[in-house]
Amino acid sequence: MAKTLMLLPGDGIGPEVMVETRKIIEWANTRGADIKIKEGLVGGASYDAFGKPLSDETLKLCRECDAVLLGAVGGPKWNNVDYAVRPEAGLLRLRKELDLFANLRPAIVFDALIDASTLKPEIVKGLDILIVRELTGGVYFGEPRGIEDLGNGERRGFNTQTYTSSEIKRVGRVAFELARKRRGKVTSCEKANVMESGKLWREEITALHAEYKDVQLEHMYADNCAMQLLRNPSQFDVIVTDNLFGDILSDEAAMLTGSLGMLPSAALGAPGSPGLYEPVHGSAPDIAGQGKANPLATILSFAMCLRYSLGQPALADAIEEAVRSVLDKGTRTSDIMAKGSREVSTSQMGDALIAELKTAQAKAA
Ligand code: NAD
Repeated sequence: MAKTLMLLPGDGIGPEVMVETRKIIEWANTRGADIKIKEGLVGGASYDAFGKPLSDETLKLCRECDAVLLGAVGGPKWNNVDYAVRPEAGLLRLRKELDLFANLRPAIVFDALIDASTLKPEIVKGLDILIVRELTGGVYFGEPRGIEDLGNGERRGFNTQTYTSSEIKRVGRVAFELARKRRGKVTSCEKANVMESGKLWREEITALHAEYKDVQLEHMYADNCAMQLLRNPSQFDVIVTDNLFGDILSDEAAMLTGSLGMLPSAALGAPGSPGLYEPVHGSAPDIAGQGKANPLATILSFAMCLRYSLGQPALADAIEEAVRSVLDKGTRTSDIMAKGSREVSTSQMGDALIAELKTAQAKAA
C-alpha cells in the first residue's frame, strides 16, 4: 500500500541534503517502497513566504502523512526575528503538535570513520547504541517554573521534574519494542537514589518489563551511565531515559562517533501517527550553497523512516549497508575527510550511494 512522506527541506544546507535524499527515495520506489512525496516549507523559508515558521496548511499536510522528513532550520538571516516566529519555533511546534514523545538517537561507529572518534578505536569499534529519550515531559515542561524575587537582592530560579506513570510507560514500551528488534537489552537510566520522579520511573519500567520478559532489563543511575558511555560503550544496546538526562546522554553518545554530518534521529508519537525524521545537525550556514554538506545524516534518517514508519526494514538495511561500503571505499565529504580518501561534493556523495545500491542489487540478483 502506498505511503505518503512529507519533505520539509528547511534552510541552509537542508535543501541541498534533501536533493540527495530524494535520489534515495526514488531508488526505494524502484524497489517497491511505493512512497508518494509531498513537500512544504518550514523554518526561515516558511517565515519568508508566510510570516510564520510553520503554516497551519503545512502542519495539516504533515498530520495526513505517514512520516515527515526534515532537513534543518535556522540561520543568521533570521537572527533578529521575534522568538515566537523564529525558524526554530516551527520545529518545536511540529514536535509538539504531532505529540512526538520518544526521541530515537542512534550512535553508530562505522569502521571507516573509527579515527574520527576522540576515544580509542578499540573502545568504539562496532559501536551501535540507540538512545530513547522522553521528549515531551520532565523538567523542561514541568510546572511550577520561574524566577522569583526573594527580596534583599536574592532571587530563586526553579523548575519541576515531573512524570506520570503513563508518560513513563509509553516511552518504556517504545524502548522494549525496539530492543526486541535489536540485541534484546534495555538500560533504563534515572536518579532513583535522590529523586522521587526517578523512583517512580524505575518502578514503572520494572512493572512494564513483565510484558517483555524476553528483553534483558538493567537499571543504571544516569551519572554512572554518562561514565560507562566513555568507559565501555559496547555494553549498551537500547538506553531509555527522561528528557533532561536524555538530552545530555544522547549528545555524549553522538560524539563517540565523532561526526555531526553522520547522525540521524527520529521522533515518534502514538502508534499510527506520523513520525518525524531529521539529521541531528543544523542548517550549517557556514557551508550552505557550497556543495560541501554531508547528506548521509539525512539519508540515514530516511533509512530510519523506512524502518519505523514505512514498513520497509530490508530497504533500510540496504541503505545503511551501502553507506558503510561507500565509506569503506574512501568516498568522503570534507567534514569526514581523511588522508588517502577521495573528497566528493554533496551531490557526488548521493550519486556514489546510488551506484553502490545498484551494484549491491545486481550482485544479489
Ligand atoms: P550546525 O549543526 O548547523 O553546524 C555546526 C558545524 O558542523 C558547522 O561548522 C557546520 O558546517 C558543520 N556541519 C553541520 N552539518 C554538517 C553536514 N551535514 N555536513 C558537513 N558539515 C556539517 O550548528 P550551528 O552552527 O550551531 O547552527 C546553525 C543554525 O542551525 C542555527 O540557526 C541553529 O539554530 C540551527 N540548528 C538547527 C537544528 C535543526 O534544524 N534541527 C539543529 C541545530 C541547529
